[in-house]
Amino acid sequence: MADKHPVRDKVVGGLILAAIISFITFVLPGGWGSVFHGVYQFFHWLWLWLVADVVVARWLFWGLIIMSVGFVVGIVFHIFESSGGTDYQIKPVKDSEGFFFGIRWRWRNDAGHIQNLAAFCPNCDLQIHPWATRPGVNPERSPVIYRCDDCQRDLYDSRDTRSQVEDLVMRKIQQKIRDDKRNPTAA
Ligand SMILES: [Zn+2]
Repeated sequence: MADKHPVRDKVVGGLILAAIISFITFVLPGGWGSVFHGVYQFFHWLWLWLVADVVVARWLFWGLIIMSVGFVVGIVFHIFESSGGTDYQIKPVKDSEGFFFGIRWRWRNDAGHIQNLAAFCPNCDLQIHPWATRPGVNPERSPVIYRCDDCQRDLYDSRDTRSQVEDLVMRKIQQKIRDDKRNPTAA
C-alpha cells in the first residue's frame, strides 16, 4: 500500500464526506434545519445558564471580591517593580569581597555557603540594584544592567537575568576559593 495518489485520495475523501453529510440529512427528521436549531438551542441554554443568579453566602462573596482586588494589585506591583536585589546587611568583619564583571561583590561565606551576595560600585561603593533593560519587566525575567546611581556609570550590561548573573558570580566565587586553596601563597 505504498503507492501515493494524492488526487485520487482527495476525490475519495470528498465522496466519503458527501456521503456522511447526505446520510445525516437523511437520518435527521428535520434535515440541516434541525442541526442548526440544536446548535442554537445549546448556545441559548448556555447564555441563560451564564446570566442566571447564584445564591452565595456574603462572606464568600466579599472574600472573592477582596481576593480578586488583591490579585490585581499584586499583578500591578509585580509589573511596575523593575529594580531588584537583596537587602544587604553590613557585617564588614565577616564579609569577603571580590571583583567580577567590573563590579565589587560582597558576600558572606557561611560554612561554605555563599550568602548575602550584593553588588557595589567599585568607584563610590554604593550598593547597586540591577535594573531590567526591558521597561516594566521584573529583573527576574529580563536582561539586567548594573548602573551606579551616584556615578551615573553603567558598570555591567548583562544579557542575563539578575539571578543568572548572581548564579555566575557565585560560581566565580567558588572557583576563586578553590584557586586560593591551591595557591595559598599567591594573592
Ligand atoms: Zn558609584
